[in-house]
Amino acid sequence: MTQYVYSFSEGNRDQKDLLGGKGANLAEMTNMGLPVPPGFTITTEACKAYLAEGAVPAEMDAQVTDHLTRVEQALGRTLGDPDDPLLVSVRSGAKFSMPGMMETVLNIGLNDQSVNGLAKISEDERFAWDSYRRLIQMYGKTVMEVPGDLFEDALADAKERKGVTLDTDLTADDLKALVEQFKQIVKDTTGADFPQDPRNQLDAATEAVFRSWNGERAIIYRRQERIPEDLGTAVNVCTMVFGNLGDDSGTGVAFTRDPATGHPGVYGDYLQNAQGEDVVAGIRNTMPLSALQELNPAAHARLLEIMHQLEEHYLDLCDIEFTVERGKLWMLQTRVGKRTAQAAFRIATQLVDEGLISEDEALNRVTGDQLVHLMFPSFDDDAPKNRIAKGMNASPGAAVGQIVFSSEAAVEWAKKGKKVILVRRETNPDDLNGMIASVGILTSRGGKTSHAAVVARGMGKTCVCGAEQLDVDTKRNQMTCPDGTVLVEGDVVSIDGTSGDVYAGDVPVAPSLVVQYFEGTLDPSSDELVAAVDRIMKTADKQARLKVRANADNGPDAARARRFGAQGVGLCRTEHMFLGDRRELVERLILAPGSEQRRAVLEELRPLQRGDFIEIFEAMDGLPVTIRLLDPPLHEFLPDLVELSVKVAVDEHDHKETEEDESLLAAVRRLHEQNPMLGLRGVRLGLVTKGLFAMQARAVLEAAAERIKAGGDPRPEIMIPLVGAVQELESIKVEIDEVATKVAEESGVDVHHLIGTMIELPRAALTAGQIAEVAEFFSFGTNDLTQTTWGFSRDDVEAEFFSEYLDRGIFRVSPFESLDIDGVGRLVKVAVREGRAARRDIHLGVCGEHGGDPASVHFFHEVGLDYVSCSPFRVPVARLEAGRAANEAAHSDTR
Ligand code: ADP
Ligand code: MG
Ligand code: MG
Repeated sequence: MTQYVYSFSEGNRDQKDLLGGKGANLAEMTNMGLPVPPGFTITTEACKAYLAEGAVPAEMDAQVTDHLTRVEQALGRTLGDPDDPLLVSVRSGAKFSMPGMMETVLNIGLNDQSVNGLAKISEDERFAWDSYRRLIQMYGKTVMEVPGDLFEDALADAKERKGVTLDTDLTADDLKALVEQFKQIVKDTTGADFPQDPRNQLDAATEAVFRSWNGERAIIYRRQERIPEDLGTAVNVCTMVFGNLGDDSGTGVAFTRDPATGHPGVYGDYLQNAQGEDVVAGIRNTMPLSALQELNPAAHARLLEIMHQLEEHYLDLCDIEFTVERGKLWMLQTRVGKRTAQAAFRIATQLVDEGLISEDEALNRVTGDQLVHLMFPSFDDDAPKNRIAKGMNASPGAAVGQIVFSSEAAVEWAKKGKKVILVRRETNPDDLNGMIASVGILTSRGGKTSHAAVVARGMGKTCVCGAEQLDVDTKRNQMTCPDGTVLVEGDVVSIDGTSGDVYAGDVPVAPSLVVQYFEGTLDPSSDELVAAVDRIMKTADKQARLKVRANADNGPDAARARRFGAQGVGLCRTEHMFLGDRRELVERLILAPGSEQRRAVLEELRPLQRGDFIEIFEAMDGLPVTIRLLDPPLHEFLPDLVELSVKVAVDEHDHKETEEDESLLAAVRRLHEQNPMLGLRGVRLGLVTKGLFAMQARAVLEAAAERIKAGGDPRPEIMIPLVGAVQELESIKVEIDEVATKVAEESGVDVHHLIGTMIELPRAALTAGQIAEVAEFFSFGTNDLTQTTWGFSRDDVEAEFFSEYLDRGIFRVSPFESLDIDGVGRLVKVAVREGRAARRDIHLGVCGEHGGDPASVHFFHEVGLDYVSCSPFRVPVARLEAGRAANEAAHSDTR
């Protein structure tokens, strides 16, 4: 028989899957001997069964009865007893705390009889009727789905009639009248009476919690936070304790340290003579926790003692909910508390200093995403700000600009050198150019998977979306703030993509101290946060097995990457070296009528290329530099087909000289492709354009020879892109080997170098065993591998339908942000296995943007790659995650 119900004394904190977070921690506290009111948890399994079958599982009912009886016997009271009622709360609690789940119902077990019993036993009539009106209100709203404001309005009316402002000023008689009114509201809106049978109340509330798993808000939240749909929620049934029994009672919330800054100390709020959510609902002014010390020194001292005990036990910041009933303290909830990114780093190192956790464990307490937050510039904390709205923090950063309401305007204003923030209700694929032209994007609709959010994150652009308080009117080019102020095109706003805040006017931006530290311009000991980051980074580097390289195309980028801790260049793209002034040379290369002329142009390009490589080898002296030979289709270096056709036509009409343009146009037409991503590029280009790859390889080797002569230590690795068959690589390798022999003869230096390939086509992954016979290293080009595995081109699809795919749950996250482990990851695994089988010492890395994504880094660690390579800015994130991945693996071995 399945056990669907667990007493609080049966579970522990590791059972969040089964008991939910709240239930698991209530059990943990019970077993620590803390004062938790007795109760039991109905499991997530029961919820799943209920949702599948439409009814609670057959065995559950008897198990609930059994556990309820145990509680009743322990306390000597029965649920809803007319003379001395046991009352309980029914509380939802999934594995992850989630808004949108059913709100807690307190005081279950009260009815027209037991309310009198409660009044007599407590010797407080007002309290009893206050509790009853709360039950009808909460139960009516959450279980019977009566609109909540009907009750709130009635309560407000009662206070107004009486001429008072606080609900504590209502007397027992007022509350009695209110109860009658509430019952009538229930009857009028649902046609049913408020249920008088205590057990019916309990069962109906339990089922309502189960159903709330599939409530609209809960579903939206799960999609946004990538919480699986099939977890289900648990239900906690907990004996009531009463904070509304007069002035020696009350309820509060607290943190064991400051969750915003990480500073040690006790933080919290307390509200006298109150129950449940009163303290956070803002109905009366709360007092700081320290005030409890005067009101009730004993309860306060006990609370501090328990908070200390919780930290020692959980070894982390905890947040708690408690109630004081006539001077006695009760614990109602705890969990390891959420915190800001800066608090996470500070708290982790504080706990090490306090001897609670090890340096290794501190590494587990922070994430790459948190580090990213600390690396963005942020709005100056101390600057005065006028917040006009708060939306979703869709893509981090701090952006200040003039608002425009259309993409055309964004493009136009940006051309004039202005910084603009594109404001839309929501964006669509037509807004792409406008988004590119803007420094930030602000929308009034949509969540973290909306078009604006997905595309902005893809571009690394600051974005706040779903700022619903803003009334955006794109027809009139204006938006109205909640206070009625109207902002028009050209007005300045500041948006914080890290918090979701939107401010009117220009808020000063402060550069990130953490970035200054990585740059080497800030001494870590000068700032507490930076010192914490420094310490944790050192642990990460010590733990990491995966090396981290950077994608860098020039000397300055390579130097920066090295300062950020890169251990080499994993991808140096040579195409950028063909732009600017040199583009003209590429044009001549393409137009060259014969091999003689082509060779001449290549000879002109060679010294330029050599210069580029020397710079990079210098910056990365002693470290490997992987240079990818030319990858993109040649027509990318030529003028646009349409523009050139128009120019030729116009010039012809004006009787101008067009001969040169016409031969260029012929070349553009010849090279025009329907699907350039799948066209003449990569190794195919190298095979077709005779001498191109040989020239590039020669430039690499000559540069290296020169560096060696100058006393340097270059470590070139020549990488051939887009190989699908070993024969392609073989042909190129023959050419490069010849070049190498020549360079050695000419320079008198034998340059040690590796020749390898990218694995970025499914065929390459599937024939990796053959390719490894020739390749000395593989670098997984996971961007192209994702495109070719899925059969879509990123530029075309990301703006078109990704948000739809995310909304429908086809993707949980964009496969360009985080590696698609099931599909693309499978190809990587196959290639790693077969590559290593063919060549034991083959060197394996990854050079897609996934190299800087935390989840992907963990995967690359697990499959045994040697390094990841990412953009210089992401290098610290990859270092941190490489350390965490190794750390986790080490700890799971010993467990
Ligand atoms: P949430 O998940 O929103 O935190 P909770 O289940 O913790 O909801 O309950 C909401 C409020 O009701 C909290 O302030 C909690 O302390 C209070 N509460 C819950 N159960 C009881 C109880 N048995 N006795 C007294 N107060 C309770
Ligand atoms: Mg709570
Ligand atoms: Mg590629």
